[in-house]
Amino acid sequence: MQWSNWSGKLTSQPTQQYFVRSEADAQAVVRRAVETGSSIRVAGAAHSHAPLVQHNGILVDAQGLSGVISSNRERCSAWVWAGTRIYAMGLPLREVGLALNNQGDIDQQAIAGATGTGTHGTGRTLQNLSAGVIGARLALADGSLTDASADNNPDLWQAARLHLGALGIVTRLHLQLRPAYLLQERSWTAPLAEVLAGSTHHAAENRHFEFFWYPQADQANAKCINESTAEPQYPLAAEGQRLAWSHEVLPNHRPHKHTEMEYSLPSKAGPACMRAIQQLLTSRFPEVRWPVEYRHLAADDVWLSTAYGRDTVTISVHQDVREDDEPYFRACEEIFLAHDGRPHWGKVNYLNGSQLESVHPRWADWWRVRNRVDPNGTFLNTYLRGLQ
Ligand SMILES: Cc1cc2nc3c(=O)[nH]c(=O)nc-3n(C[C@H](O)[C@H](O)[C@H](O)COP(=O)(O)OP(=O)(O)OC[C@H]3O[C@@H](n4cnc5c(N)ncnc54)[C@H](O)[C@@H]3O)c2cc1C
Repeated sequence: MQWSNWSGKLTSQPTQQYFVRSEADAQAVVRRAVETGSSIRVAGAAHSHAPLVQHNGILVDAQGLSGVISSNRERCSAWVWAGTRIYAMGLPLREVGLALNNQGDIDQQAIAGATGTGTHGTGRTLQNLSAGVIGARLALADGSLTDASADNNPDLWQAARLHLGALGIVTRLHLQLRPAYLLQERSWTAPLAEVLAGSTHHAAENRHFEFFWYPQADQANAKCINESTAEPQYPLAAEGQRLAWSHEVLPNHRPHKHTEMEYSLPSKAGPACMRAIQQLLTSRFPEVRWPVEYRHLAADDVWLSTAYGRDTVTISVHQDVREDDEPYFRACEEIFLAHDGRPHWGKVNYLNGSQLESVHPRWADWWRVRNRVDPNGTFLNTYLRGLQ
């Protein structure tokens, strides 16, 4: 039995694999693991580059828990099964007049996998997906199915908004949404210096702004996306020119296998950090052809969020999956840390627990709750145990 992540760079051999299709089944798997002293990791869609799922114990695939359970148009909220792929939520939510506030660059992730690592899109006023979690139900190590929200188990809710798969099996999520909306894209290409000089303005003037900088050509592909009242246009145009519903415009097709490091920086540090990464690439890594991505993210109050308490710019560096990414990524990490960066939970980083504690103000709170609901570490793997 072999598990591997999306890029193929991470693999493991789980002793047992369970594909759960109901909450009763999830609960029973947890009870069995606790009785036999085994540990569990839960897999979403395997799109993380960090060794979160990699594990040689029990692997639970929760993607059988899929679909929209119920929605409330007036409150703009919905309960969804935790294993629902983000692409499978777009249409059913649209049909009841609702949509996610924002989405990441792809929509292949399971919703609990995406919220579990702080997955985000771009937009100066838009928060990550974890910030939209207003409730959760988990199968916990004590054998219970437990609900958590701001009014009920608030500490567990806070920890579960960005859970790293370390609290229990998340079976369902209650999401804050907004009325369905149409988006129109506009894209252009220019040298990095020009796009970066206008970045604060573009981020302020547009709902979404981002760019990919291609170092060898010194060209940045920039994109702005805004709400529209025009008729959607089908078939969908190419990326950068679409006009359609939000769930059709925000995700992109990213078939080329790569690894990725991403750091979140205080937004004011974004341009200087980007220039330092540019300098690094041109002076020490001129062979790297993969782009550097620059996005905006609004502050939130999610305990382990990389945007906790501060408006943020995120910078991602990529490398071909067949290359040794470590020298390049380690050099980038030094720059990110010098700019007060926090690493994306689902991407490559080389930080230990005390370094993570120094950049996450609510680190101790998160571990306190985690250790309370799972005192014997049933939901930890070697990587997470090493961070404690
Ligand atoms: C091509 C590509 C594009 C990406 N684009 C973006 C982007 O635009 N923005 C961004 O922020 N990130 C992006 N990412 C990163 C990605 O969104 C995260 O790594 C995300 O966590 C992957 O979700 P997943 O469903 O694949 O979860 P997995 O990688 O399978 O798991 C992630 C975590 O969630 C846990 N988990 C999953 N389901 C459950 C459950 N039901 N109960 C308990 N724990 C669970 C796992 O144990 C693990 O800890 C991208 C990754 C790739 C490969």
